[in-house]
Parts: sequence; C-alpha cells; structure tokens
Amino acid sequence: MTQATGIVGEFLSLKEETDAELLTMQCGDFYEFFGEDAETVGEELDLKVSQKSSHGSSYPMAGVPINDLTPYLKALVERGYRVAVADQYETDDGHAREIVRVVTPGTLLETSDADAQYLAAVVAGDGGSDGEYGLAFADITTGRFLVADAEDGDEALTELYRFSPVEVLPGPEIRTDDDFLHLVRERTDAALTLHDTESFAPKRADHAVGDQFGRETVDRLGVAPPAIAAAGAVLSYVEETGTGVLASMTRIQAHHGDDHVTLDATTQRNLELTETMHGDSDGSLFSTIDHTETSAGGRLLKEWLQRPRRSLSVLEERQEGIAALSSAALAREELRETLSGAYDLARLASRATHGSADARDLLAVRDTLALLPALAETISSNPELADSPLSEIVDRPDREAASDLHDELAEALAEDPPSTVTQGGLLQRGYDDELDDVIDSHEEVQRWLDSLADREKRKHGLSHVTVDRNKTDGYYVQVGKSAADGVPDHYEEIKTLKNSKRFTTEALEEKEREVLRLEEKRGDLEYELFEELRDRVADRAELLQDVGRALATVDALSSLATHAAENGWVQPALHRGNELVIDQGRHPVVEQTTEFVPNDVRMDRERGFLVVTGPNMSGKSTYMRQVACIVLLAQVGSFVPAREARISLVDGIFTRVGALDELAQGRSTFMVEMSELSNILHTATEESLVILDEVGRGTATYDGISIAWSATEYLHNEIQAKTLFATHYHELTGLADNLPRVANVHVAADERDGDVTFLRTVRDGPTDRSYGIHVADLAGVPQPVVDRSRDVLERLREEKAIEAKGGSSSEPVQAVFDLSSGTMQTGTGTAGDGAGSEAVTTDGGGSTAESEAEGKGEAAGEESAPALDPASEAVLEDLEDLDINTTSPIELVTKVQQLQDRLDERE
Ligand code: ADP
Ligand code: MG
Repeated sequence: MTQATGIVGEFLSLKEETDAELLTMQCGDFYEFFGEDAETVGEELDLKVSQKSSHGSSYPMAGVPINDLTPYLKALVERGYRVAVADQYETDDGHAREIVRVVTPGTLLETSDADAQYLAAVVAGDGGSDGEYGLAFADITTGRFLVADAEDGDEALTELYRFSPVEVLPGPEIRTDDDFLHLVRERTDAALTLHDTESFAPKRADHAVGDQFGRETVDRLGVAPPAIAAAGAVLSYVEETGTGVLASMTRIQAHHGDDHVTLDATTQRNLELTETMHGDSDGSLFSTIDHTETSAGGRLLKEWLQRPRRSLSVLEERQEGIAALSSAALAREELRETLSGAYDLARLASRATHGSADARDLLAVRDTLALLPALAETISSNPELADSPLSEIVDRPDREAASDLHDELAEALAEDPPSTVTQGGLLQRGYDDELDDVIDSHEEVQRWLDSLADREKRKHGLSHVTVDRNKTDGYYVQVGKSAADGVPDHYEEIKTLKNSKRFTTEALEEKEREVLRLEEKRGDLEYELFEELRDRVADRAELLQDVGRALATVDALSSLATHAAENGWVQPALHRGNELVIDQGRHPVVEQTTEFVPNDVRMDRERGFLVVTGPNMSGKSTYMRQVACIVLLAQVGSFVPAREARISLVDGIFTRVGALDELAQGRSTFMVEMSELSNILHTATEESLVILDEVGRGTATYDGISIAWSATEYLHNEIQAKTLFATHYHELTGLADNLPRVANVHVAADERDGDVTFLRTVRDGPTDRSYGIHVADLAGVPQPVVDRSRDVLERLREEKAIEAKGGSSSEPVQAVFDLSSGTMQTGTGTAGDGAGSEAVTTDGGGSTAESEAEGKGEAAGEESAPALDPASEAVLEDLEDLDINTTSPIELVTKVQQLQDRLDERE
C-alpha cells in the first residue's frame, strides 16, 4: 500500500501529515476514507465499504456525501477518534487537496448537546508533581475561556472533574506522570491529546494569550505562569485544528478556587450532583432542580451546582433574585414563557465567528436579542422584581448595542430564508439598492415566465399548456398531446413524452438566459451581503455572550425559584460564623419520591462532630447526604428543603462512603477508600464539612475500627472540621464522653413483636444497642448461633481496649474505652508534665468505678497528677507496645496476666 499512487497515494501522503487517527478527503461531491481508515469507519458507523482499484491494486473505500459529513464526524469523535478533514480546491491546473482541520472531541463545533464542551489543558509548574499546577478551559461552542491555578495535583484533578472536559491536553511534565494521567482517565471521560510541546513554553504561551485577549487583561488575571501556559496551549490547539473560532474567544476569566467551595470528584459523585451512582442523569440533584427553559440556562445552573461559592455578596444576590421570583409567581411564568423562545446566543456567536452561521441562525440571533427588552419590561413592571438584583442582571449587557444589532438584523434578513446561503432569498428588500434592482429584474422575468402559459393559451388558443423547468431541458412549454399539433410555427419541439410535447421558443430561451444570469447574480450578491452581515455579527460576539449570559442567569434563577416555590423550600440565612442549624430538613432528591420524614441538624463550635448510629437501612446515609446537599444548595445561592436554616459558609465539602457500600456497585476498593480518606485528612480545614459514611468498613474489624477511631480523633483534634460520621462501630459512640465536640445522634427505630419499624427520626444520643446480632436474631438465625455470637462479641470486647486521645487543646485527655464494661476512663494527658498516664488502665474489673469517678469531668484534667514510678512506667511501655491485632487472644490474656503480676511486684 505504501507504493500507492493516484488518489489513494494522495490520501496516504496526506495521512502522514497528520497525527489524527482518521483522515477523510474530499473527492468531488464525496468525502472518502481509504484503506484501513475505510475499514475502521465501515465498522464503527456501519458504512458500506467498497473496493477502489488504483493502478493495479485495490483498496477499501468508504464515502459520505459532502453535505452529510457532519453527523459522521460527530459520531466518530464521540467514539474517541480524531478525524482530519482534507478539502479539495481548484488550482490553475486542476485541483489539489489540503488538510483544513482536525476534528477532536474538544474542537467539535457541530454539537447539539446542551452541555458545555470543554477543551482543557493542564500544566505542572517547575515543581513537577508537588508544585503548582495551572489549568485552562475553553468551550469553543460558546467562546467561554477560563484559567485557574491549582495548588497541587489533587486540586488540579478536582478542577478537571468539576469542568468535566471532553478533551485534555496534558503539559509536557505531566505526560510522564502516569499516576496523574491515570486519575484523569478515571475521573473524566476526556480524550487525552499530546499537543505540540512548544505551545506550552511559557514565553510563547504568554504572547499568544496576550495577543488573543489583550496584554492588560492577562496581567490583571492574577494567575500563575502554569495557567497561562495552559491557556496558550489551548489557543494554539484551537488554531491548529482549524475550527476558525479563535475570534469568538473574546474574554478570558480567572477561576479562583478561593471563592469556590472545594468539591472533590468523589464528593460530586457521592452527592449525585449531575449523575446518580449508577451513571444516570435522571435522579441526580441537577435533574431534580432543573426547570430551566433554555440550554444556556441549564448549563449555567449546572455550573453553579458544580461550583458553589463562598462570596456572601454573590450568594445574596442570587438569593434575593430567587426570593423575588418565587413570590412573584405570575411575572415568573411570564419570564419563563419569554425565555422559552430563546436560542443559545453564545453558541450562535461562535458559529458566526466560525463562518458557519446561516440566515436562520442570524434570525435566531435577532429573535433572541428581542427577548432582552421583553424580559426587562416584565421585570420593571413588577415592583418586587424591579427592586431585586434581576433589574441589574438584565441591564448588564449593553442594551443599546443589542437593540442596534437587533434592528440591523431585522432590516436585513428575509422572514423565511432557506438553509443554504448561496441561492438567494436571504435578505429583505430595501436592505441594499443594488440587490433591490437585481431582485426587481429577477421578479420581472419570473413574472413573465409565470404568466407565459396563460398568455400562450390565449394567444394561440391552446389548451393544456404548462411552463416549467428542469435540469436537462431548461425552461420549456409543455403542451398536451391533443393540442400539440396546433402549436404555432415558431415553437421548436425539444422532446416528445407519452401524453405531451415540450417546446421552446426564442423568446423563452432569452428569458431563460436572463433568469439564470439574474439568479446567479442575486445569489452571489446576497451571499456577499450576508457574509458582511455575518461578520458584523461576529464582531459583536462579546455582546452576544453578554446578552446570552443575562438570559441564562434569569433562566437559572427562575428555575431555582420555581423549584423552591413548588417544593416549599426556604431561604437559608448565610453567615460566616460556626453555626449550622437546619430545622426540619429534607433530602432534596429523596423527598421527590418518598413520604419524607424531616430531620433537624444542630452543629456549632461546641458540637462539631456528630457520630451517627442506627440500624442498617434506618436512614443514616440519607441524613448525612441531606445535610451536605443543603449546605451545598445554600452555597449555590439556592433556597433549601427545610423549614428554617442557618448555615455557616464552608470552604469545602468532603464525603467518603466506606468501600463496602461502594463495592456493591463494583467501583471501589479499600485502597481507594483509604486514599480518599487520606485526601480528606490532608485537605479539609476547620471551615469544611466532612461526611464519613461507614469509613473503615472495607476491612477487617480491628483494622476498620482502629482507622475510624484515629480518623475521628484527628478530625476532631487537629482539623476541627464539622463532621458527620455514620458508623456501625458502636464503640465509637463512647467517644462523645471524652472528646468535647463529639456528640452522638441516632436514627430511631421502633421494635415491637420482633418487627423493626424505621421511624427515620434522628435523635440525640447513641443508639441503644449494636444491631447486627439483633438483626440476625430477627431474621431467624437459629438461636444457638445467635447466643453464641453474643458470647463471642462479649469475649472480643473483653480482650481489647481502646484509648481515646484528644480533648480541647488546653486540656488534652486520655481515656480508655473499656469494652467489657462499656465505660470510658479519662485523665489528663499532657506529656510534658509526665502526668496523665496513671488513668490508663487495662483493668477490666474492680477499679472501674473508682477510676471512672476520679477520671470523669473537667476536674481530672486540671489536677496535676503525681509522677509514676519507673516500674509502672516500664509496664505501661510494654503495654503500649502490645499489638492487639497481631497477638492471639490466648497470648493476650497471658501477657496481660504477666503485666498485672509485674504491677503486683512493685515496691
Ligand atoms: P442507612 O445508611 O442507615 O443504611 P439509608 O440512608 O441508606 O440507610 O436509607 C435507607 C432507606 O430509607 C432509603 O431507601 C431511604 O430512601 C429511606 N429514608 C432514609 N431517610 C428517610 C427519611 N428521613 N424519610 C423517608 N425515607 C427515608
Ligand atoms: Mg448507609
């Protein structure tokens, strides 16, 4: 095949110029794929593959008509191929072909998908995987362009997940970072493309970005060099792939993580923000609250949800808008009705810049621009709305420029233009004098032609006369057989049909030439004028984006207001304090399908860590997710499903569901669970909300409980994040006695006559029993087995004891949870004064009451305890070294016996 010449040879040599997986080449009225490409395309798209013989060999070939290429391209790109497109053009000696663009997931203009379609680049600063990262995101279908800094690889991944790009260009350093690339693949559906390394070079990128958006803008962005490098690479890629949309990228915005709530990938998935755990979009939080009328509004709402904010002023503006809209029901309906006629201005602007907008697209621009004053009118004539931020939102775009552009389009465009732009019929009369003359002449000839049949009938007394045209015969007079003999002499016969004859005349031929000339002239002139008009629209891309943004904002706010009004949601009071109080809260999604039992939450500085217990299926997970969703919605600016809510702004929401629960869905391993827990422990702050659902459950009991225990201590003592921790490790409920900010809540269940009724009500305090064995009992497991398991549990408890470290920083407390007695003993734990250890005891019996009495309460922490004698210290050290996980119960008993003996032997 390498020897191929002729058309296949041309194909193959073009193929060498591109690194796209597939090439399609225009051959006359078709785009053809040859060789392996033809086979691939045939297989992927069910396209017929034929054989093309060329100079003695034969090659597979598959083709599509030029006008049908778009859907094929789209389908191929969606299957992950990048497709180079070579066009044919005329030259002095025949024709030549050239690759004009490469279609990739991120540069596919022909999308009908409502979602944003981001092309992203991610660059590591010189620190490599530990240093700063920079990202850029461009949606070429709307012209949106964002850059962001990220502190480290994790944050970069979080941003990538947030924007869920369809294509990612990794920077040069990242290409060898397999772990990072692996995570990109795992967390996004993006295609990874290795774009020219040079375009990432800082100087070159900086120039490119400066040229595109203006030097000053770039300097004002305040992002670090890696983000600029990423932006430069994106620009170069868009240019190289030849979509011609660079001009629609008029504005670059910095996306500052600071003002945004950290939502890592796992959290977005756990909270089912945009898709459920099963990957459906139905049943997600977004689909539940989305009542937008336009695709741009839907995109914006989704963006809000994925990027909750921390800025009170931003959130309050949205809240006030929603408050006004939710009480002004009629005006709201009017706005939504108006919006339902809107087209996607940002996308239209992009098509205008790319030169692919047709006359109908420009009509859509015209009609959508007309909606802005209509919305403004509705808003200003309703006192409540007039007084709300909505007035300002619709005033943000340059209303005068928008109205000028609207008028210009209204004067130019014909009412019902065809979708082709080369055949005339696009523009109105009165728009251009020269065009008017052509149209006049054209219509005059047309009238002559239209009335010819009647005239001929009358003049020559003929019946059954029609005048028509077709490709081969041109214009002709058709006369029925019966009358054909009576035609005048100057009729020239051109064809005999079964029942009629076709004639032409000199006059008709002359008019035909004229009509063809005028048609061509009109088509050319209209196309020229149309292109000028389209260019002027393209010049206003930024204006269109502004208007589009205003419409989308009104749409998104109306959607939130509609949902709030229909579901009895309330405006939460947002504040920067520490109090999180939700009165009669509900889960926003579950309440749609279930008779939901509302629940309260109360957390603050003193009560910052809730251990949530309760039997399986009682509602623990739902309760915690409900809290997370309500906080998230509040920081979207939305109303929330509750009777009343006071919400302290958080800087991040982190959730982690134990591997066991996720294993059921086949997506997680214990390793993943732990690396995500680790991520939370590294990133959460005092201002974060942390939801841990059965963490530690994915491993053996001892491991699991140890991890749960120590994570709790760490979150409580070091991070001090607001935390809800659902656990079936009943032991954890004992922590509340010792760690001052920990409180127990449980989901109540009622048990009567052996039946458990779930009340779904969350109450203070720990659940009163460990339910596992109880459930086994209820399920009819034979009595001896149940009894024996109680026995074993008892034994297990006797054989281990866990120490709780922590307390308020001024009074660290050490305690032992004695599992055999179910009590906790505490004492001070300041290492420096050598005190604190005396309260630690392994004694499972007699001294419990005593040490409990002296250990409980604040007093124990304040008293300075006497120093220990060396023998006791030695015993304690040995005890500390004793690893209960690796020592068998028998050995443990023996060791403990030995330790006790040593204590007895003390002087
Ligand atoms: P757990 O985590 O305790 O095992 P889940 O939170 O998974 O329990 O809830 C179990 C079931 O109970 C789910 O089907 C959920 O929809 C339902 N449920 C949970 N909380 C409530 C509530 N407050 N009102 C009504 N149904 C609820
Ligand atoms: Mg659960």
